[in-house]
Amino acid sequence: TIGMLALDANGNLSGACTTSGMAFKMRGRVGDSPIIGAGLYVDNEIGGATATGVGEEVIRTVGSFLVVELMRQGYSPEDACKEAVERIIKKKPEKAKEIQVGFLALNKNGEYGSYALQQGFSYAVCNQEKQDTLIKGKSIY
Ligand code: ASP
Repeated sequence: TIGMLALDANGNLSGACTTSGMAFKMRGRVGDSPIIGAGLYVDNEIGGATATGVGEEVIRTVGSFLVVELMRQGYSPEDACKEAVERIIKKKPEKAKEIQVGFLALNKNGEYGSYALQQGFSYAVCNQEKQDTLIKGKSIY
């Protein structure tokens, strides 16, 4: 999945995502990317979030909506992403060791962060301080 989150000069948030789905997917499978709240969610009052990895687990936790709701409760973007990843571990501790799920989040103040199950999730930031800077996201394992 490629997910994008943006905060414009007027303070408005937006987001988009695109995916090829999973390799060898079942015919008719719908992943998390086209489901608002799962692979992508933006609330212009709070922030936005997007996800990558095994879509079934993201759908089960309504992951991107969860991240935004956690930010609404005061979590930083990174802490919200971490909590969502930990929710996936709680539901399926054994499976979580073998799959990848990553979340990226941006809040109304322009703060951003990510968290993934496995290493290897990175994202690019473009703002007044950073021009296309690649950031290595944190991970559980
Ligand atoms: N999240 C996508 C899916 O499950 C896979 C991906 O990361 O592109 O369809």
